[in-house]
Amino acid sequence: MADVLIIGAGSAGSVLAERLSVDERCHVIVVESGPAPTDPRVRDQITDGLRLPLGQASAVARRYTAVLTEDPRRSVQIMRGAVVGGSGAINGGYFCRALPADIDGWALPGWAWADVLPHFKAIERDLDFEGEPHGTAGPITVRRVAEFDGCTAAFVRSAREAGFAWVEDLNGSTRQRTVPPGVGAVPLNIDRGTRVGPGGAFLEPAMHRPNLTVLTDTRVGRIRFDGRRAVGADVVGPDGLATLRADRVVLCAGAIGSAHLLMLSGIGPAAVLRAAGVPVAVDLPVGVDTVDHPEWVLPVSWPATHGVPPLEAVLTTADGVEIRPYTAGFGAMTTGRRDDPTDQPHLGVTLMRPASRGRITLASDDPDRDPVIEQRYDSAPADVRLLRDGTAIAHEIAGDTVQSEPSWATSQHLCGSARMGLDTDASAVVDTRCRVRGVEGLWVVDGSVLPAIPSRGPHATIVMAAHRAAEFIA
Ligand SMILES: Cc1cc2nc3c(=O)[nH]c(=O)nc-3n(C[C@H](O)[C@H](O)[C@H](O)COP(=O)(O)OP(=O)(O)OC[C@H]3O[C@@H](n4cnc5c(N)ncnc54)[C@H](O)[C@@H]3O)c2cc1C
Repeated sequence: MADVLIIGAGSAGSVLAERLSVDERCHVIVVESGPAPTDPRVRDQITDGLRLPLGQASAVARRYTAVLTEDPRRSVQIMRGAVVGGSGAINGGYFCRALPADIDGWALPGWAWADVLPHFKAIERDLDFEGEPHGTAGPITVRRVAEFDGCTAAFVRSAREAGFAWVEDLNGSTRQRTVPPGVGAVPLNIDRGTRVGPGGAFLEPAMHRPNLTVLTDTRVGRIRFDGRRAVGADVVGPDGLATLRADRVVLCAGAIGSAHLLMLSGIGPAAVLRAAGVPVAVDLPVGVDTVDHPEWVLPVSWPATHGVPPLEAVLTTADGVEIRPYTAGFGAMTTGRRDDPTDQPHLGVTLMRPASRGRITLASDDPDRDPVIEQRYDSAPADVRLLRDGTAIAHEIAGDTVQSEPSWATSQHLCGSARMGLDTDASAVVDTRCRVRGVEGLWVVDGSVLPAIPSRGPHATIVMAAHRAAEFIA
């Protein structure tokens, strides 16, 4: 029997496993459905920071069907990392902190900017900036591209000519001074082409610890309860079915995986569970009002940039639009091939403070059937207006290099499927210590619990939150 069972060795799970197993008296078991990084093909895919390993044959990504918009209904495939390191092992390497206003806007005790800043600092080693508010000794290397080429250079030049200010340091916010809107270099957890994700930076160096066991290629089907207390999980792995038991169980399976497992285990909206044939243990709003960063993409005829990360600079506007000059076409980014002339660099126009909300619902009590994911990006007319305004700015910057009308896409930033909140908040699934309400011995620590989506990509904030939450579970 373990002291702590961590379900999912993704961005958050990797940090939590390392932090909790520092105490050699604490026996930690981590269960991960994806492969270990020891396979050389897996290692190459997750460390190459210049590519997103999302091709059809990817051994490290899992695909889900998601409905992006209702009218008309647009279905796409969304990705999640399924490997030690999780989505943080396959992502674009943009490692930008939430703004102080994002965190203070949560208005939760223990989660003010002053509470979380030490954790943002502890996770990183920023090679470009020293002193407040940066970290210099953490496991995740952060650096920015100093000289731009190709489409990033064209974008930055045009944005500045259009009057947007240069922002020296997108991670430079302090309580007194938030970084202003403008164009700046993206803080990247990519060091000379190598992705430095939480799996490689936190979990792998700890895997030799005798009190830490990582079971890969092992999938959790349900959480086990003894009355109201979580006592373990049913898993299927290389040796077949088993039940793992632990004093504390922590779900780190990501915004989709954790919501799915909660509902399969009887924790979720009563009507949704009953419709799927799952007995209701606790009626909680799991999968309700999820949030992501909706995106429109516009192909541009700027030259692709070779041998660089997918995104090196961004422009943010005062009303929360982020414009991203992706350095290559999506095909080139995922496969590395450059032989398709229609596979062009593109601009992403993204809403960083969207009003739209989506949902994740259980389709069946069979753990092998994916949940239904509906993003409902077109459900808030104000969002669509802002996307149009952002697209007008993108046209102003890119001029006649824009090749076609924008199309709907996703930033792959789905969050908030088991939100953290006060005990008086009926929309909260976990309390401010990440404990699932109504049961004992069960926590959720990953992108599911973010009370609101940060107005930056969520990765750095999720890693910070896991580092902070380790103190609650230790
Ligand atoms: C393609 C892509 C690009 C992205 N780019 C960026 C970016 O550049 N910047 C940014 O800020 N954000 C980015 N994101 C988002 C960011 O990476 C994620 O929000 C973040 O990594 C999520 O962390 P997590 O710990 O919540 O979940 P994950 O990292 O997804 O971890 C969940 C883990 O749980 C495992 N798991 C799930 N279900 C089970 C189960 N039943 N049993 C056992 N294990 C299970 C999964 O295999 C996975 O390893 C991107 C996401 C994707 C998919």
